[in-house]
Amino acid sequence: MKYISTRGQAPALNFEDVLLAGLASDGGLYVPECLPRFTPEQIAGWAGLSYAELAKRIITPFVADSIPADELGRIIDDTYAVFSHNAVAPLTQIDSNEWVMELFHGPTLAFKDFALQLLGRLLDYTLEKRNERAVIVGATSGDTGSAAIEGCKRCDNVDIFIMHPLNRVSEVQRKQMTTILGDNIHNLAVEGNFDDCQAMVKESFADQSFLEGKARLVAVNSINWARIMAQVVYYFAAGIALGAPHRSVAFSVPTGNFGDIFAGYIARNMGLPISQLVVATNSNDILHRFISENHYDKSGLEHTLSPSMDIMVSSNFERLLFDLYGRNGAAIAELMDNFNRSGQLTIDEHRWSFARELFDSARVDDEETCETIKQVFAESEYLLDPHTAIGVRAARQCRRDASVPMVTLATAHPVKFPEPVVKAGLEAPELPFHLRDLFDREERMTVMKRDIKELHALIRSKSRAL
Ligand SMILES: *Cc1c(COP(=O)(O)O)cnc(C)c1O
Repeated sequence: MKYISTRGQAPALNFEDVLLAGLASDGGLYVPECLPRFTPEQIAGWAGLSYAELAKRIITPFVADSIPADELGRIIDDTYAVFSHNAVAPLTQIDSNEWVMELFHGPTLAFKDFALQLLGRLLDYTLEKRNERAVIVGATSGDTGSAAIEGCKRCDNVDIFIMHPLNRVSEVQRKQMTTILGDNIHNLAVEGNFDDCQAMVKESFADQSFLEGKARLVAVNSINWARIMAQVVYYFAAGIALGAPHRSVAFSVPTGNFGDIFAGYIARNMGLPISQLVVATNSNDILHRFISENHYDKSGLEHTLSPSMDIMVSSNFERLLFDLYGRNGAAIAELMDNFNRSGQLTIDEHRWSFARELFDSARVDDEETCETIKQVFAESEYLLDPHTAIGVRAARQCRRDASVPMVTLATAHPVKFPEPVVKAGLEAPELPFHLRDLFDREERMTVMKRDIKELHALIRSKSRAL
């Protein structure tokens, strides 16, 4: 399979090179040149498969010319064996014809494990084969950092440097990163905010001379196509469990960078009968404003009780725009140029209407988030994390057809975000068994200034590849 850039000017790449690339050289994002499409008979034949077996069926066409089937099978088996629930992504019913899919049974208790556990293994396999080394430099305001560290901790060929803003991530989130000890793991606490960390990642990608050509710089945020690919699987798992291909299914997705919900859009284009996708945002509602009014306009960042969705722009949105513009890379380059200059974007009415056939959206603020946690607990004694609560509320607001099963993706375990749970008047949940001693574990991190020279000197002195 070939992958092409959303801006039309970068060379087409195969899976291996896309896995190891960040942004395309023209500033765009890579997407498959054409998607595999499964027939209703094929999908019907997958009923009853384990999660890992289903993942093999769905992921194979994306990687087939880069990774032999037996190696891929082993990698996928290893990946989903680390999840603590045998079903990997169990469905729980919370109302009539309404479900949540629990995506928080991975090592860091958030859905990012689904993609990053796989990504780490795919990277290590590919680097080993090519006899190359990689350095990951990432910035996190919470969930991505720990999931990336957990995903890469056993990678012989990867050194990982994750920056977080000093004293600005929650205690659980920090401990989940800094207590994973290993020669290749480096937590950097930056005296600054998340944007400072992010800016240093961007600068590092723009000028990689500090690596002296001895290692590649790899991106682990959701611009990496492999992450989207891994997330397509659970949409199929939920759909098939609830009657696809014979019945349609709808999803509501707590959304930040538009990665997770974009995977749902891809699942639909691969043949899963999805009749509706609900974009659920917190007060950082740029995507809600696009879906409801065709205004994708940048505004200031708000800190909310659902911090993993606190964004100003959504990096994967460009992938949807590419399709809405008939995959015209030149048009997207122009659109994004304008957006970067003006901070505003409105698309042709007929293209926007096309998006509206599938997507609905809702914005849920902090007060409504707490209200929903309280309400759902009163109804069914089921405790939602704040991100998932936003999804459930949006699902209920936007639902088009009560006879179609509605699935909200539960993106995090409530224990990661106790504050809104307590605000809702409920007892904070206990850490799951494998994390009970989290607060007693040894922590390791380096405090540093917001200084690119200091960062690169640190990487040079600590990376095993340099
Ligand atoms: C990352 C994250 C999200 C947002 O996912 P996107 O792919 O960025 O839209 C939602 N909830 C939780 C708990 C997350 O960690």
